[in-house]
Amino acid sequence: MKLRYIDEFRDPEVARRLLSEIKKISRRPVRLMEVCGTHTMNIGRYGLRGLLPHHVQLISGPGCPVCVTTTKEIDMMIKLAEEDVTVATFGDLMRVPGSHTNLNQQRARGADIRVVYSSFDALGLALKNLKPVVFLGVGFETTAPTVAATIIEAKKRRVRNFSVFSAHKLIPPAMEVLVSSPDLRIDGFICPGHVSVIIGLRPYKVLAERYKVPCVITGFEPLDILQGILMLIKQIEKGKAKAEIQYTRAVKEEGNLKAKEVMEEVFSPCDANWRGFGLIPKSGLCFRKDYKEFDVNSYFDIKVDEAKEPLGCRCGDVLKGKIIPPQCPLFAKVCRPANPIGPCMVSSEGSCAAYYKYRDWEIA
Ligand code: SF4
Repeated sequence: MKLRYIDEFRDPEVARRLLSEIKKISRRPVRLMEVCGTHTMNIGRYGLRGLLPHHVQLISGPGCPVCVTTTKEIDMMIKLAEEDVTVATFGDLMRVPGSHTNLNQQRARGADIRVVYSSFDALGLALKNLKPVVFLGVGFETTAPTVAATIIEAKKRRVRNFSVFSAHKLIPPAMEVLVSSPDLRIDGFICPGHVSVIIGLRPYKVLAERYKVPCVITGFEPLDILQGILMLIKQIEKGKAKAEIQYTRAVKEEGNLKAKEVMEEVFSPCDANWRGFGLIPKSGLCFRKDYKEFDVNSYFDIKVDEAKEPLGCRCGDVLKGKIIPPQCPLFAKVCRPANPIGPCMVSSEGSCAAYYKYRDWEIA
């Protein structure tokens, strides 16, 4: 079934047909991971979990950039804010707990921390000020090209008071860890639409071939998600493992070549730590030699004590799909959006926040 018109993305009749086909063809219990936090949010928002047969289980993955940022990285960002600098960040990061405090509390104590909507806004701050401006680069392949473009622009304009804390992460290496973990069972990946606009199909082809796991790049409208699930179940029932694109109106097989080129001009893959995963080889982005002058580490030796993880928080297990949020003993009791214990409840893309907001624990 092809979704052709924009109106169809929410057409109840098409939804009924997709659901009936899913029910008709799915025979075995399956665990499908939606890698992206926006999928998790929309699955909750449109009540999709409750519409699927019980044996089709959707589990959330590591696709919330703020959530996978480690406590140590948060501590380093907070420490940086103690220097005589302006720290520019996306708003999602402000309430993420570090070992002892968060950026929001530090701002209340007088640190110069500004919320911006893009890395170019941060560059704008640097152009207007003499004070050093540090942009906190948190995000996946979706965000990194814009940050790279900002750095190229800063170099072109010879801006000397702008630098970036690169905590960027790359999604395919984390998916590889998940699919090769012996204690996790993932029967298929609902692959992230936004990230895939940049990286295209190839990284998933490698995963599908090497690990025999079906991958479908899926859009974010409710019918996109249902169709992505149907495509995965079709593959599983036929014993196939391919990488496919459901989100054809946005994703090309080769991805966005220009964005990849810009990203590769500034950054090269390096090992990175992820919350819940630990060190994943080649899953972060470090500065290439020609752009080192924009690496915050060239100016500050940011030393922090060993990080203290939020007590009792199972965010790392949620990010790996080992548990679903209601299985965390603190969920909805101690930990709520108004009093988040871990980042998975803070972020607008966090799984715990999604389950809480859309009361998905009642049907989980
Ligand atoms: Fe952590 Fe709160 Fe989620 Fe539990 S519910 S895993 S404490 S963020």
